[in-house]
Amino acid sequence: MKNRIGIVGGGQLGRLIAIDAKKLGFTVNIIDPTPNSPAGQVADHQIVADYTDEKAIRELAKISDYLTFEIELANAEILDELAKKGLQINPSAQMLGIIKDKLEQKKFLDKANIPVADFVEVNSMEDILKAGKKFGYPFLLKARFGAYDGRGNALIKTEKDIDKGLKKLQGRKLYVEKFVPFIKEIAVMVGRNLKDEIISYPVVETIHKNNILHLLIAPAPIDKKIQTKAQHLAEKVMQQLKGAGMFGIEMFLTKTGDVLINEIAPRVHNSGHYTIEANETSQFEQHARAITGMPFGSTKMKVPAAVMINILGERDGPAKPQGIAEAEKIPGVTVHIYGKLQTRVDRKMGHLTAVGETVEEALSKAKKAQKLITI
Ligand code: AMP
Repeated sequence: MKNRIGIVGGGQLGRLIAIDAKKLGFTVNIIDPTPNSPAGQVADHQIVADYTDEKAIRELAKISDYLTFEIELANAEILDELAKKGLQINPSAQMLGIIKDKLEQKKFLDKANIPVADFVEVNSMEDILKAGKKFGYPFLLKARFGAYDGRGNALIKTEKDIDKGLKKLQGRKLYVEKFVPFIKEIAVMVGRNLKDEIISYPVVETIHKNNILHLLIAPAPIDKKIQTKAQHLAEKVMQQLKGAGMFGIEMFLTKTGDVLINEIAPRVHNSGHYTIEANETSQFEQHARAITGMPFGSTKMKVPAAVMINILGERDGPAKPQGIAEAEKIPGVTVHIYGKLQTRVDRKMGHLTAVGETVEEALSKAKKAQKLITI
């Protein structure tokens, strides 16, 4: 029987995939450099090694029937080679290669006629000044690789900010993106399975603080027409992508009702965590189904509204989760703690979801629960 899933990456996403995959009867092995990683704690076995470690990836491949990843930093070249030898790797290693370079990702979307903010590759101060002239100020200077949670971005308000931006992103390949004056950030989880079926979840609103997802509202409190438009756009993106699995599509909604794609995450995503409690099938279960040849489950919400809040570290040191029992006493609130042994300022340590009859009810419960928890 083919029932062994291998995951490159052992953070919270791997952990939540592993929990749902194990419910379906799969065994789960993972690679992560930190011993006793969040996913390692629930997986059958953890290989302690870097995500890009060739030997470790080959070792994981040997004990896996299906290989997937929870992190874009995985070694795309080796995954591609293993796929060519016949290992089931999803999403496709080729897609991972394109998506992990944010400039290539933008070019790929633009070529497929999918709306994105104007962008241009920059290799020198001169290029950046030229981009500023073309797009106007403010604009974003962005790192092409290894940028997540806003860590690879610098907002350039005037010419004077360019030096500071270059310093922040020193040594990295860069591109410039026109500033989008969005009124809301929204996101859609989409997926494809091995039978080429495509699914999408309801549109959610995402609210960021310091470039990190802070709070999520499902469904997004926006016009029905725009919801449909965003969902169709996400499905259109999915049609362009190869391979099976769940993808997070982050978007900007403008005052004029335009929807632009900000970023594709080739994996389960923070903007789909609410689906564990709020939908008939969670994004994590769908991912396990997608990559192993199973049919998809329903993406419908089983409650009228849900709000998710990330539980972020507020200091550096050993994690001491507190207040979880009190938060869980609030009807409709579920807390997830990822088992990270060390906390850091703004590190994602857990999340909570509150479900309710209305967005207002869910929001009030989620905020109440958040106040009770310290980490
Ligand atoms: P990113 O890591 O590139 O997704 O960017 C992190 C956050 O920066 C986004 O969630 C937005 O809030 C903001 N941002 C990124 N790109 C733009 C843009 N072109 N215009 C305005 N805000 C942006």
